[in-house]
Amino acid sequence: MIETLRRVWGYDGFRPLQDDAVRAVVDGRDSLVVLPTGGGKSLCYQAPAIHLSRLAVVVSPLIALMKDQVDGLRQQGVAAAYLNSSQSRDERATVHRTLAAGRVILLYVAPERLTTPGFAETLVRARPAFFAVDEAHCISQWGHDFRPEYRELSLLKERFTGVPVHAYTATATPEVRADIVTELRLKDPVVLVGGFDRPNLVYRVQARTDRVQQVLAAVNRHRGEAGIVYCIRRSEVDEVAAALVRRGLRAVPYHAGLTDAERRANQDAFVAERADIVVATVAFGMGIDRSNVRYVVHAGMPKSLEHYQQEAGRAGRDGLPAECLLLWTGADYGLWKSILEGEPAVAPGAVRKLGQMLAFCQDVTCRHRALLTYFGERAPLDEESSTGCQACDVCLGEVAAADDGPQIAARILAAAAELRGRFGATHLADVLTGAATEKIRAMRHERLGAYGALSEASKSEVRTWVDQLIGQGLLARSDGEYPTVAVTTRGARVLRGEEVAGPLSRAPRPTRERGPKERRGTDAAAQSDAGEAYDRELFETLRGVRRTLAQERGVPPYLVFSDVTLREMARRRPTTTAAFLMVKGVGEWKAEEFGARFLAAISRYLIRDGGLRAPPNPPDAPGRE
Ligand code: ADP
Repeated sequence: MIETLRRVWGYDGFRPLQDDAVRAVVDGRDSLVVLPTGGGKSLCYQAPAIHLSRLAVVVSPLIALMKDQVDGLRQQGVAAAYLNSSQSRDERATVHRTLAAGRVILLYVAPERLTTPGFAETLVRARPAFFAVDEAHCISQWGHDFRPEYRELSLLKERFTGVPVHAYTATATPEVRADIVTELRLKDPVVLVGGFDRPNLVYRVQARTDRVQQVLAAVNRHRGEAGIVYCIRRSEVDEVAAALVRRGLRAVPYHAGLTDAERRANQDAFVAERADIVVATVAFGMGIDRSNVRYVVHAGMPKSLEHYQQEAGRAGRDGLPAECLLLWTGADYGLWKSILEGEPAVAPGAVRKLGQMLAFCQDVTCRHRALLTYFGERAPLDEESSTGCQACDVCLGEVAAADDGPQIAARILAAAAELRGRFGATHLADVLTGAATEKIRAMRHERLGAYGALSEASKSEVRTWVDQLIGQGLLARSDGEYPTVAVTTRGARVLRGEEVAGPLSRAPRPTRERGPKERRGTDAAAQSDAGEAYDRELFETLRGVRRTLAQERGVPPYLVFSDVTLREMARRRPTTTAAFLMVKGVGEWKAEEFGARFLAAISRYLIRDGGLRAPPNPPDAPGRE
């Protein structure tokens, strides 16, 4: 199996749990494998099928992903095919013929195809070694992406007696897991659940003061890299996308208000690396497999931590460092609440989940730990240590808890009490900072005891504290047309000194340029890879070669080679095929297919770099750019 791994993928070992998952397949057991996004689930069923050289049927919910996976496998010389409704009759007939001839190792199908008349019989004759059900959480109503057609998969065990079924998902909750086992009728399955921490992601949570400026600051930390910016509303998508484009950035919008053609064009541009940034509503992401997304910005708070994890998790699937920035205000909570209340049937626990999302934003504790705790997992030991995870704004020391938190809380509560819950958060902040607004003059609020009580702080800072106190349940926001803020019973107890307020955070400090500590990565090799310096210029040159090759073959660039592999190429600078094969991620087939072009590019670069040839454009040559 290791030999297969080396030959086909150019990898030198398994990631955690992959070996157990592969063994379950080879041993002919049923299994349920839960690994986080980027954990390497596909390899768990691809490697044994290739190794056994027998047909495996992969059930996948998304046509776009199917094509990607199959294209990817073909780039590696694996006999893969798919069958779905996007194909013409002829195309499907060709696949059927190859299947009948026993020349397919990995066959991807949509769940509904398995129950179409005739097809099941064809499959029975093709004698699959096993079934792999990808995105298996789609079978559960408890999951975030229930698909009724997945329910049909309970037939697999009936129709294909004795053929093992393996389920793969990134959703960890016990209800979903139990549902998968029951619905698929897995028999005494091997259950493997991986750690859910994504150590290569740096989480940052900041109070939103200026959407466009804060998004821009994040984009500027990642110039030329791939990023996704999520907004709650379409209008925000358009605004942010336009602002980025005005600044010469290669950004495209994506939301349900665009035509299908526009959406497809924008998505394709992102996948083919003609665009760097997609600004989108949550509609974007399923079906996107670009593994080198270096940052995800939430320009508004998501409605649950499940959504947050799913969306933020699209960053850094290749295991290299990536940033997840979440910008929020208390108003996002109000917005979601009114959206939920307007829905005919609210999913169970939706409002509670929204509250937990808000609490996550307001909390000033390690983000990695908070997420793990929410998903019911214990944090790894190093995250309990005094230095923390070194991969979130809290542990990196970017958000300091205000030392004078209790005093600040008391002043804000006193001001809200003085305003008798009749004014909104903005006015409250104006009063506290001692602003000279029209309204303050008209109401004569400069005479209030609370006026200017926090004059040292900025208005946006006070607004954040108000949000934090709302989150702690000491203030409450009314949901009217003009939302007002009032002291709650608990807030009143704090005012009377019977209870203490929780910590309040200071405004964010400037964000450091560097990513997480490089020791943190998803596998040992990627860690050292990420840590070592690589030649950026050569990397960019190789990216160009990759883009051209991808274009010629009509596949996304990341299917040619991942960024991890390109970086290692830029570090090792191989000039022979043997050396090229030593690069992690270069298998035999890819070396044969792509080797010459990359080697030529590297040689050209080295000759130039070694001074054997003058740079193409000497900076001082007249008449040149
Ligand atoms: P998932 O489906 O769990 O989100 P993928 O199967 O897409 O994850 O794998 C994520 C990335 O990790 C891919 O680029 C894949 O090639 C890479 N990968 C998987 N297994 C290994 C391994 N054993 N060694 C190195 N890279 C791996």
